[in-house]
Amino acid sequence: MKILLLGKNGQLGWELQRSLAPLGELTALGSDSLEPCGDLRDLDGIAGTVRALAPDVIVNAAAYTAVDRAESDVDSCRTVNALAPAVLAREAARSGALLVHYSTDYVFDGSGEQPWTESDPSGPLSVYGKTKLEGEQAIVAAGCRHLIFRTSWVYAARGGNFAKTMLRLAAERERLSVVDDQIGAPTGADLLADVSAHAIRAMRGHPELSGIYHLAAAGHTSWHGYASFVIERARQAGVDLKVGPGAIDAVASSAFPSPAPRPKNSRLDLHKVQQAFDITLPDWRIGVNRMLTEFLEK
Ligand code: NDP
Repeated sequence: MKILLLGKNGQLGWELQRSLAPLGELTALGSDSLEPCGDLRDLDGIAGTVRALAPDVIVNAAAYTAVDRAESDVDSCRTVNALAPAVLAREAARSGALLVHYSTDYVFDGSGEQPWTESDPSGPLSVYGKTKLEGEQAIVAAGCRHLIFRTSWVYAARGGNFAKTMLRLAAERERLSVVDDQIGAPTGADLLADVSAHAIRAMRGHPELSGIYHLAAAGHTSWHGYASFVIERARQAGVDLKVGPGAIDAVASSAFPSPAPRPKNSRLDLHKVQQAFDITLPDWRIGVNRMLTEFLEK
C-alpha cells in the first residue's frame, strides 16, 4: 500500500509518521517540501503530487491552525483548510484513493451541554471553524472514499503544549487563572494517529465505513480541570512549584478575550467511531498522565 502523508511536522503529522510506517510505503511531506510539493497553498502543486505518487491512501494532517490569526488572514486559512482538501478529494475520487482528513469541534457553535453527534447541525463561530467545515463538505461532495475525524484539544509530547505551559507558569507564579467554562477532552496526537492507522486497515474491503467520525479521548473536563490535574500530578511527582494547592482560580472565557470565539461545549459523542472500528477510547487522563510521565522523567 502506498501512503501519502501531508503535514508531517505538526503534532499529529509527527505521530502519523510513526503509526503509518508499518502499513506500507510512506511518503511524508511538509509545507517546505518542494519536489514533490507539500505546500497546501499550491493547489496545482498538490494535485501534481497526488498524480505523480499515485497513493492508495492520502492522509492530510496539514491545516491552518492559528485560530486567532485566521480571523484576519481569511484567504490563506480558506486555501489550506477548504480549497486544498477539495483538491485532494477530487484527486482521490479520480484515482480511487482513500482520503483521511481531520476536522474539529469548532464546526459546532458550542451551545448546550450534550456531546455533539456527527449528525448534529454545524454552526462554526470562527473563520477557522468555517473553513474546516467547508473542507469537510468539499470532501463529502467529491464522492471519494474518506475518513474525516473531528477531534478536540489536541496535544503532543513533542514540542510545546498546554500542560507544559501550565507547569512552567506554576513554577513561576503563586496564583493562576484558568478558564472553566469551556468543556472538552484533551486528546493525544498519538491516540489519533494509532486509531487512524487502525481505521485505514479496517477500511480495506469495507467502503461502507466511509464517513465523518468524532474521535477524541473519552470523558471531559474544563481547561481549569485539565490544568489542576496536570499541576497535582507534578506535585505528586515532587516537582518544585510556586503555586499552592487551591491557588488555581477558575475564570470565565471573557477573562481572556481573543479575536476568535471558542465554543464552550466541545464534548464529542464517540459512539459511532467506537462501534464502526471496534475500539474503546481511553479516558483523557490516561494519555495526559503518560505524556506527563515522559516529560517529568526527562
Ligand atoms: P499543528 O498546528 O501542530 O500542525 C499543522 C501542520 O499543518 C503543521 O505541520 C504545518 O506545517 C502544516 N501546514 C500549515 N500550513 C500548511 C501548508 N500551507 N502546507 C502544508 N502544510 C501546512 O496541528 P495539529 O497537528 O494539532 O492538527 C492536526 C489536525 O487536527 C488539523 O486538521 C487540525 O485542524 C485538527 N484539530 C486540531 C486541534 C488542536 O487542538 N490542535 C483540535 C481539533 C482539530 P508548517 O509548520 O510547516 O507550516
